[in-house]
Amino acid sequence: EWYQVRALIQDVLDRLSSLFEGRSIQLHGPRDLPPVELDYLYLDQVLTNLLENAVRYTPPGTPIDVTIQPQEHEMLISVADRGPGIPQAEQKLVFDKFYRVLHHKQPGTSNTSTPGSGLGLAVCKGLIEAHEGRIWVESRPQGGAQLFIALPLRPFEH
Ligand code: ATP
Ligand code: MG
Repeated sequence: EWYQVRALIQDVLDRLSSLFEGRSIQLHGPRDLPPVELDYLYLDQVLTNLLENAVRYTPPGTPIDVTIQPQEHEMLISVADRGPGIPQAEQKLVFDKFYRVLHHKQPGTSNTSTPGSGLGLAVCKGLIEAHEGRIWVESRPQGGAQLFIALPLRPFEH
């Protein structure tokens, strides 16, 4: 079905706001966007996983930014944080099942103290690829991780 991604993301943020109390999560990007053909529950699950990670692996109080950037053939959505980031050498591996990064020297964000099975991003990858989209991670120049998803934009059909 066809959805407005901004409304979908806002729904996810509204639902998570009570769970992630005290975290500032801001949504950026244009309001007037082309509709995207997607599975609502699958995309909800992807965004929830990415936001859960952004909260789980970053120090309390640091901001999280969700950005929507429409391009010519794709809708880009990103979740950016100010945490330890993901080392370059592991940026592809984190999408493998059960892969977890060891964040040493990051009190409170070490995954020895962080629960998780290492499946979240592998599931995200499967769900995004089911949409013929792409998912990847970059390091931010100012520090932190930025997770991107790109969903194909197709001509709207009823
Ligand atoms: P699960 O999501 O299954 O509960 P998980 O969070 O460990 O467990 P993934 O979501 O697949 O699994 O993430 C894999 C690993 O990537 C994490 O263990 C963590 O080391 C790293 N990671 C993911 N997101 C971030 C982030 N925003 N900042 C830093 N590291 C991250
Ligand atoms: Mg996770």
